Amino acid sequence: MSEELRFDGRVAVVTGAGAGLGREYALLFGTRGAKVVVNDLGGSFQGEGASKRAADVVVDEIRALGGTAVADYNSVVDGAKVIETAIKNFGRIDILVNNAGILRDRSIAKTSEQDWDLIHAVHLKGSFKCTQAAWPYMRKQNYGRIIMTSSNSGIYGNFGQANYSAAKMGLVGLANTVAIEGEKNNIHCNVIIPTAASRMTEGILPDMLFNELKPNLIAPVVVYLCHESCEDNGSYIESAAGWATKVHIVRGKGCVLRTSIDEKATSPEYVKIVWSKVTDMTDAKHLDNISQASGYLLEVLENLKEGK
Ligand code: NAD
Repeated sequence: MSEELRFDGRVAVVTGAGAGLGREYALLFGTRGAKVVVNDLGGSFQGEGASKRAADVVVDEIRALGGTAVADYNSVVDGAKVIETAIKNFGRIDILVNNAGILRDRSIAKTSEQDWDLIHAVHLKGSFKCTQAAWPYMRKQNYGRIIMTSSNSGIYGNFGQANYSAAKMGLVGLANTVAIEGEKNNIHCNVIIPTAASRMTEGILPDMLFNELKPNLIAPVVVYLCHESCEDNGSYIESAAGWATKVHIVRGKGCVLRTSIDEKATSPEYVKIVWSKVTDMTDAKHLDNISQASGYLLEVLENLKEGK
């Protein structure tokens, strides 16, 4: 085993750290020398109510293990207040794990505007607000590690989770851009796609699976992603049950819908004829950035010009 990965001198804010996955992240950071802000609103899994107990219990656990932690009871929607707790108590912020979350599962037909807005407020806006509040500190110190929490429900869709899926995929988009904007200041932003036994998944996952999906098995992945030695930036990492992998969005080779550069239109009928080529994923590739996407398009146009 290599040298222990330590976080001495680092300050980590973990949102929604009063239970489930966030609690495991906070405990692991705490035992590795980080000073931890345990943020948790302490409401129900559907986002009702509030209580200081959830955060307090985890702070006590970290202290009992010899670590340093303070509680923060703000909603992530008040991101500035959450980050202020780190600054007031510890004078800096190095790591932000955007983890707080709730569920309001309904089919698309039954999703109310309130359910939609609340899910987006906690997951997407909450992550934006905390990240934006941490940003000036991270930029100034030329260092930061940020995690966004997505979900397979966002990546693949899941019946009854339209609001949650949309917010969770929104977090992938947010991470893509934060990773690009942070790069020059050594601020990395990566995405965790977890599956774990928690109050959120109780009764949804089959018992056999539920018992294997210990949230503590995901914590080492998130904690490593937040270490200064981890060079990943803009990665999506799926993890569950002591297994982890990188996830990519890929693009097919595609098909030109014009026969020559002079042809300025195409037709639905032609699209239908070549549809199997448009949707052929045989030579699908992952693109690293938006320039590669437009670069490839320019190549297609160049070939068309040359009659290739
Ligand atoms: P959990 O319910 O055990 O923990 C979530 C915590 O967030 C709770 O302690 C809750 O009080 C807190 N919270 C909720 N709203 C908050 C707010 N506005 N401000 C601050 N804290 C708030 O759930 P979990 O399973 O540990 O989920 C953690 C994250 O992982 C969530 O973002 C969830 O969507 C995501 N996720 C979980 C799974 C899974 O299988 N458990 C799968 C995919 C994604």
